[in-house]
Amino acid sequence: PAAIDWARVRADFPLLDRQVHGKPLVYFDSANTGQKPEPVIAATDDFYRRHNANVSRAVHALGNEATDAYEAARGKLARHLNVRSDELVFTSGTTFAINLVAYSWALPQLRPGDAIVLTRMEHHANIVPWQLVAQRTGATIKVAEITADGALDLDALDAALTQEVKLLGVAHVSNVLGTINPVREICRLARKRGVVTVVDGSQALPHMAVDIAAIGCDFYALTGHKMCGPTGTGALWARREHLAAMPPFLGGGEMIRQVRFEGTTFNDPPHRFEAGTPNIAGQVGLGVAVDYLGALGMANVAARETELLAHLTEEMRKIPGLRIIGTAPDKAAVVSFLVEGAHAHDLATLLDLEGVAVRSGHHCAHPLMQFYGVPATCRASLAFYNTHAEIEAFIAALLKVRRLLG
Ligand code: PMP
Repeated sequence: PAAIDWARVRADFPLLDRQVHGKPLVYFDSANTGQKPEPVIAATDDFYRRHNANVSRAVHALGNEATDAYEAARGKLARHLNVRSDELVFTSGTTFAINLVAYSWALPQLRPGDAIVLTRMEHHANIVPWQLVAQRTGATIKVAEITADGALDLDALDAALTQEVKLLGVAHVSNVLGTINPVREICRLARKRGVVTVVDGSQALPHMAVDIAAIGCDFYALTGHKMCGPTGTGALWARREHLAAMPPFLGGGEMIRQVRFEGTTFNDPPHRFEAGTPNIAGQVGLGVAVDYLGALGMANVAARETELLAHLTEEMRKIPGLRIIGTAPDKAAVVSFLVEGAHAHDLATLLDLEGVAVRSGHHCAHPLMQFYGVPATCRASLAFYNTHAEIEAFIAALLKVRRLLG
């Protein structure tokens, strides 16, 4: 295949041309939210300018156009993930998707004495909904631990899948450590024991090709804004048999077949789970984001990011007193770090003055911070649109900030 001109690709992202505090922006916070390419921005703009109408309600031309565009986006996302489109429920993102599983699948299923296994590296979005459900059902939560380098301990995980375990929640990629978890192997272990699996794909989809059918999970949650799509977009993929058995989570318009005060019958999945007017322009934009990523080729994206990550890691390792948290062999382009004697927030604040955007804090992963015995880390997270020159600028800024902090 022809080599990709990454400088041209970068030019598709208008925001990256910005300056902040008089310095060229170095945006190393893509794990938090990704920047948007021109075609995605144009698609949402075009939707509101030319096609805006509500979905599935109007018989007029615009209503049909809006519905067609919305359903076409679902089809694109389904093809991107190698799943059926009628198994893909549009949501506002991963948080909504996991809550949907928690309230529609787990709440009616779980009983006192049942257990849920979560890994140490889960985002709060894959912890708190399960705690809420556990409180209401009498189920308990067990933790699958990690090793010091930030990899899942698969033997410990396997051992944790005892008879009372009904559900396993696992991140495909950790938003703090960058660790890529072997979800296919993990789901195979779970399936052998009849444990239902919920994979949080938030941080995987921006970085790699994901074939959900090959993973063999029961549920896969994703968020659009980290994969070049608009904020407030995403989806839950679920096996058809689960969707067919799940009661609705939210009630309202769109999700019904017939409403009588005596009782209501519901629409088929996935519409049964999409009550109310959805983020139509946003999901249409997500469809275009998927087209954009598909045209780049996720294998090319992954290779580009592997190269950037290697460069970044090599340069960071040369800085005395800098500790990288998360050194598993299989990693996406996410680097959490600490600098001896400096608080993560101070580092991030001073880096910002140099034009560098990194995140500092607990990254919605308190239990993981506890494991490493730190209140917070700084996190540099890359995307394919970042450059080697930005890595050099980041390292120079880091050295300067380190001197300033003494
Ligand atoms: N899980 C992981 C691993 C994440 O990184 C994030 C986003 N920070 C979420 C879940 C939540 O995604 P959203 O806020 O888009 O619902």
